[in-house]
Amino acid sequence: DSKAKGRNRFQLYSASMNTKFDERFSLEVQMHKALERDEFQMVYQPQINVVTGKISGVEALIRWASPLLGHLSPIEFIPLAEETGLIIPISEFVLRTVFQQAKLWQQTNLLPERIAINISSRHLEQENFVSFLAELLLEFKLDGSIFELEITESILLNDGDDIIEKLHLISSMGMKISLDDFGTGYSSLSYIKKFPIDTIKIDRSFMHGLSSDSEDESIVTAICTLAKSLHLNLIAEGVEESGQYRVLQSLQCNEAQGFLFSKPLSAHDTTELLLKNLPLGPQHLRPQHCFNL
Ligand code: C2E
Ligand code: MG
Ligand code: MG
Ligand code: MG
Repeated sequence: DSKAKGRNRFQLYSASMNTKFDERFSLEVQMHKALERDEFQMVYQPQINVVTGKISGVEALIRWASPLLGHLSPIEFIPLAEETGLIIPISEFVLRTVFQQAKLWQQTNLLPERIAINISSRHLEQENFVSFLAELLLEFKLDGSIFELEITESILLNDGDDIIEKLHLISSMGMKISLDDFGTGYSSLSYIKKFPIDTIKIDRSFMHGLSSDSEDESIVTAICTLAKSLHLNLIAEGVEESGQYRVLQSLQCNEAQGFLFSKPLSAHDTTELLLKNLPLGPQHLRPQHCFNL
């Protein structure tokens, strides 16, 4: 009847007024379902030793193939997951999946020196975060030293003492801590002294101008000097061109990660790569004496 039609029309109208809300709601609903339906997957991007070109570690990165929304980048769904709290079950899935993969690689003698995992501040702040890690290590009978947790500088601003204590507990379990996207945030040298940081990852935004722009090169040079004097491991991320690689070598940056060496790969393809155990990246940029390594 006309009353029902009127109601429908109103619903249509209000729906179009709230498109933004509905989209967000739908992404949220889809994310919920994604966990149940097993739509998330982990891929792994090699990190290479700048001198030998060999794989020194891998970084685990999440992927979501939604049958409804298509392939979504973590940049598109992690922020909403953090807002809604869904990041906790997602992050638990990430850790469990990566630990399981680490076990498989350990059993087949393919374990890289390090497996890096991105940790959301929302998860790190959870009361049970450290015990969750400890239980996973026990369950999979893995040594903590295999893993490096990547956090961002903003975490260090949040919650001073509580976070320092957690990071120390994590370190005492043998795990390494790495500062991701370094240079983009509130980088302050005092943070690095205050927190048990093992590795700094130079943000890829500094790679763009590395072989042309002197400002980027000055910043990267400064970060390299800092890392060396504080005895921190240093990884440059987003290395795409051999010119950038050459500059990083000359600055004695220990490690690099980026499309020049490899894109993030499925677990299966990563396993193939680990089996080959060959240097990655441009041949001509490796010192002669390293060819036999
Ligand atoms: P991130 O941790 O800084 O990861 C590096 C990002 O740069 C990855 O994007 C990677 O695919 C991309 N990348 C690597 N090499 C290159 C390169 O040579 N050129 C360019 N242009 N990009 C490169 P991805 O996988 O889309 O991840 C984006 C961000 O999402 C990550 O940045 C991280 O902050 C977050 N993220 C990814 N996976 C997870 C996860 O499992 N948990 C959490 N909490 N966050 C994650
Ligand atoms: Mg990262
Ligand atoms: Mg990064
Ligand atoms: Mg980044």
